[in-house]
Amino acid sequence: MGEYWRGAGRGARSMIYVSVSTGVAAGLIFGGILYRGVSMSEGQLGHVAIEPNGPLCACGSRGCLQLFASAAALLSEARARARAQADSLLYTLCEGDLSRLTVADVGRAAAADDRAACAAVASIGRYLGIGVAHLVSLLNPDVIVLGGPVLRVVPSVIQAVRREVDSRAFPVPAAAVRIVQAELGADAIGVGAAALLITEWRRSAIHAPADAPVAIAELAP
Ligand SMILES: [Zn+2]
Repeated sequence: MGEYWRGAGRGARSMIYVSVSTGVAAGLIFGGILYRGVSMSEGQLGHVAIEPNGPLCACGSRGCLQLFASAAALLSEARARARAQADSLLYTLCEGDLSRLTVADVGRAAAADDRAACAAVASIGRYLGIGVAHLVSLLNPDVIVLGGPVLRVVPSVIQAVRREVDSRAFPVPAAAVRIVQAELGADAIGVGAAALLITEWRRSAIHAPADAPVAIAELAP
């Protein structure tokens, strides 16, 4: 909600916010209204199956997106790629101990064009892009905002996501969608909470029932 109200989704009719951290979550806003599922458990993009025979996920299914595109997946991929490239900058950044490697290290090495780091980023971007391409084909949004701790320090994931969307999503929505980095960083939670409070205040001001959708777009500028 924060990105829609005050960040990268300003002015969009429909926005999907995808956050990559320990998992992958999506927030969906259509016509200024935050979509809520019947059990309030919408947006589990991380548990969309990407590999039918993939590893077991904590949710009970197999091959879920977040097993391939999350902070842990990025680190695991970066360690594996570094083991095949003895001169990788990743070794310098973690002082030779790959168990101490951080997501920020991978971001720094990718920004310096380190081959192992770039390959790891491309791998998680590819899987994330497959998930995002499904959203684009299904929902035809104006904008996809990519955020969360991983995107904050590894923004180059966006290029890989764009490539997958262009090659996999249905052509008309793929051509229409903008894919951008979140603007609010760690402030997004606070701004989103403020937007939620003001929306609820507005709901009470217009005497809307608790389950009636109230548009975030109608908030005061
Ligand atoms: Zn799962």
